[in-house]
Amino acid sequence: MSDLQPAPGGDFQPGPGTDLDPWLDTYALRASGLAASEVRALFAVASRPEVVSLAGGMPYVRAIPRELVAGAFDRMLLADAPAALQYGSGQGLPRLREQILEVMAEEGITASVDDVVTTTGSQQAIDLVTKLFVDPGDVILAEGPSYVGALGVFKSYQADVVHLSMDADGLVPELLEAAIREQRAAGKRIKFLYTIPNFHNPAGVTLSAERRPQIVEICRREGVLIVEDNPYGLIWFDAPPPPPMHTLNPDGVVYLGSFSKTFAPGFRVGWAVAPHAVREKLVLATESAILSPSSFNHHLIAEYLETVDWRAQVARFRDVYRERRDAMLAALEEHLPRLSWNVPDGGFYVWVRLPEELHSKQMLPRAVRELVAYTPGTGFYADGQGGREMRLSFCYPTPEFIEEGVRRLASVVDGELEL
Ligand code: PMP
Repeated sequence: MSDLQPAPGGDFQPGPGTDLDPWLDTYALRASGLAASEVRALFAVASRPEVVSLAGGMPYVRAIPRELVAGAFDRMLLADAPAALQYGSGQGLPRLREQILEVMAEEGITASVDDVVTTTGSQQAIDLVTKLFVDPGDVILAEGPSYVGALGVFKSYQADVVHLSMDADGLVPELLEAAIREQRAAGKRIKFLYTIPNFHNPAGVTLSAERRPQIVEICRREGVLIVEDNPYGLIWFDAPPPPPMHTLNPDGVVYLGSFSKTFAPGFRVGWAVAPHAVREKLVLATESAILSPSSFNHHLIAEYLETVDWRAQVARFRDVYRERRDAMLAALEEHLPRLSWNVPDGGFYVWVRLPEELHSKQMLPRAVRELVAYTPGTGFYADGQGGREMRLSFCYPTPEFIEEGVRRLASVVDGELEL
């Protein structure tokens, strides 16, 4: 702490710290993992209206007719205000958990109301599961690349993330087996496999039907818990993805779902379905973190699901995102044929590979100057890989903006390659 600054309170004097943060030496070790992403500042610039952002992963909530939500809101307040304004059950509103069973049934999952624990988005479920299982230095296996928000959680609990690369069919079972063997030979404790089998964020790939039982079987045999994160499963474009791995071994899988992509992320409601003992711990961990989830949002979503044709709304989302995916693929083919990318069958993202000479993070300032933003691949790895990759999102911009954004990106790439 600088001599010029007053002590922040009482007689307690913190350690040396810095002028910027006098508490620097006071934080718990785990807080050292809580660093803002390096590209955050650029994203602040990227949110200016003149910038076409292909960077974020925001659902296009404007596709929900406002009257549908307003109607559910009015009905809910008339019928349920006292309960909606009150604390609720730590596990979540039973009526909503019943309806979550119906949502999951769309993907072939059968479970009982007791198995479902609601969370503040699936993000909180990732945090709670990691809190329950991971001590510093424990290993979490995850696809490489993987969801940046999960990597942030894993880092905050000081986990060692071991990435498993994917091919066009998703996780490669042989690589999973080899990683388990290697980590154990090195004396490491593997706590779980974190996987996004459908329309992966950021890689856009889907784990094939053949590989699902293979992955489940390897994990069952080796005693490795699977955390199956499935926020995009219902956002398919041509055909539904294969059934979740949870259907193959409910005792070995913590399944995570969310209303963020099928309804709206603003409610912050997601859920976990976990083996019995894990579920009990999850409820206790939720209660310790937040007492109870938002009764208000639970009542509102329950009313919406009960009285609105939510399946038709999900179909509308599919149509919107399919059209945008097509616009992005067409624009890439037209403007950036020298790059390569995958064709996602659902979800929000196209994963693009760059030529050797380019680095996605180093190129970003130039892109922002040329009024287009994307997410550099480096954020999706725990170990700084990803310089030759980037994620383009097609969820939020209209097809016209997508085309314009990709056109600008092509000019950035040409500029970097000095073409
Ligand atoms: N998992 C994945 C793979 C995601 O892409 C996201 C959101 N982008 C989340 C979890 C978190 O979603 P939420 O907390 O809104 O449910």
